[in-house]
Formats: sequence, structure tokens, C-alpha cells
Amino acid sequence: MGLVNTIELLDHAEKHSYAIGAFNVINLEFLNGILEAAETVHSPVIINIAEVHFSYVYIEQITPAIKYMAENARVPVVLNLDHGMSFETVVRALRCGFSSVMYDASKKPLEQNIEETRLVVKMAHSVGVSVEAEIGQVGGAEGGRKTARARKEFFTNPEEAERFVAETGIDALAVSVGNVHGFYEGEPELDFELISELKRLTGIPLVLHGGSGISDDDFRQAVKCGIRKINFFTELSKMATDRMKELLETSGDTLIPDLLKEAKNTIRNVVRGRMEVFGSAQACSLPGNICPTGGSCVTCSVCESSPEPKPASSCQKKTSPLSNDEITDIVSRVVSRIIKGV
Ligand SMILES: [Zn+2]
Repeated sequence: MGLVNTIELLDHAEKHSYAIGAFNVINLEFLNGILEAAETVHSPVIINIAEVHFSYVYIEQITPAIKYMAENARVPVVLNLDHGMSFETVVRALRCGFSSVMYDASKKPLEQNIEETRLVVKMAHSVGVSVEAEIGQVGGAEGGRKTARARKEFFTNPEEAERFVAETGIDALAVSVGNVHGFYEGEPELDFELISELKRLTGIPLVLHGGSGISDDDFRQAVKCGIRKINFFTELSKMATDRMKELLETSGDTLIPDLLKEAKNTIRNVVRGRMEVFGSAQACSLPGNICPTGGSCVTCSVCESSPEPKPASSCQKKTSPLSNDEITDIVSRVVSRIIKGV
């Protein structure tokens, strides 16, 4: 089907009250495990690549593989830059062909966060790429080994969130509502009232980072309150590692291919379970065509099951028709206009 941005998918999730899982990829085992899970349960899926993982994954190298898999997947796939911390990283992701970017200036003063995010929105939207941004601060370290506890002083302020969304034009808002990256110190305590309030005031899909360690019931409640995208990685990484350790301890002649295969299978099983809890399993069959392609539309399970299936020839929902060179050219022109203050 090819890569799609998050706009239509999150809109579909909104209409049907579910959340789409965003799972981080650092190598092909993660990618394949995640996509196998999505196809098995007919769920849209977001592939995250975080800037903090750039030392493990070379995005220019892995992006072609992700695009190839997305072209051949029977579910909608988003490739999202997770926590892009600089303008340069966003441009690099756009040049690679990411279909969604998260720009994170949440640690900067509000005015600066608004100003920088607005520029990223202007640039990304010009090439059909959706934008997520954060206000308030989600604590802990992404994929980190240490535990962390959410601090109320960093929770998202509803009035600031309303202004942030209105002034930046972002498509999804990452919120701090008791969630932290990495492992939780004690039991996570999500502020569901705050989630509902943020949803009411901003009116756009909300994103919950730090999904590892949150209970199934809390996930379901958070989705009810307006969470539409859930980032999940630390637990995935730990479960795959535990399985590899187990294999090494129980089988003396285990080699790398066996370990990698088991890691991939573990990732697939964990992701599949999360998709069931997030409510995105079988979402591809729900009314409201979320199929993004023209050419493969006719064989797409989403279109086949929608009330009014569209033949490939009439499907207008195409992925960005721009080539990488065209995207680079547009980005360059937008950047030079921004620099000149036009
Ligand atoms: Zn995050």
C-alpha cells in the first residue's frame, strides 16, 4: 500500500474510538515483527524511528526497506520520526521519505516551542507529511534502562495546549499526563480527567508516549478519554531480550540466526497483544476507507470491506506522488524562504 501519513488514520481512529500503536524500529527484526503483527490482526501501524536511536539505525539505509515492506503490506503503514530534536533532523527525515514527523521542542520555552513547531509544520505539510509535537514534558529516557516517575509540574497545561495547537497547526499532540519514558517507578498513575480536558480543548488526536508498564485497563480508559496514538518500545525491547537470554541459557548451540528469529517472533506477539488492547485490531475492516493507494486498492482488504469499495482506477487516495528529489527541492525552497523571512 505504500507509506501514508497519520492524518486520515488518526481521523479514522477518532471516529471509531481506538488508538494506533507506534512501535520503535532499530533493525529489521523489529520492523518485520511489527508488520507481521499488524497484518495478522488487520491493524494500521506506525513505525517509529527515534533520533535517540540514530546511533543504532542508519535511516538512509533502513528507509528503503521500510518503504518496500509498506508497498507490499495489506495494512496502512506510517513511517514516523520519533522525537526529532532539531530542524536538521526533520529535514533529513523528510528527505528520506518519512510520512510523519514528531518535532520535540517541549523542553524549550513555550514561545520558542510554538515558533519552531510552526516552521516544521509549514515545511512538512508542504510535502504531505503530518506533524506531531509535544507540550508539557514526558519524563524518563526513551527506551531507557532506568526507572522514572511522572512529575506533576511537567504535566501538560490545558490552556497552553489549546494555544499551542491553534498557533502551530499540528496534527497530533503528545501530552504529559502521568506517563514517562522507559520503566515506571511504582505504578503509573494516568490523569484521565486531564486527558479528557486536553481532548476537549484542543480537539485533535492525543498521543501517549511511554506506553511500557501501563495496564491494559488504563490503556482502554486513556483511549476512551481521547488518546489516539500510543508509543510503545521499552517493554518490546525487554521482552525480546528476555527471550534471547532464555534461549541462550536453555540451548547450548544457539546461534545468531536463532536468536534474531526468536526476537522477531517475540516482538510480533507482544505487538499483536498491544494492538488488541489499543482497539486497533481489525480496524482495517471498519467503515471509512483508510486505504491510501490507487494501484493496489482493488486488492486491499480495507477497500473491499468498506461500504462502497472503490476500483483502483477511481481511487484518489494516493501516497505523496513526489519523488525524493522533488521533496528535497521543495524543502530547500521552503527553508530558504523561512531564512529570508518571506
Ligand atoms: Zn516519546
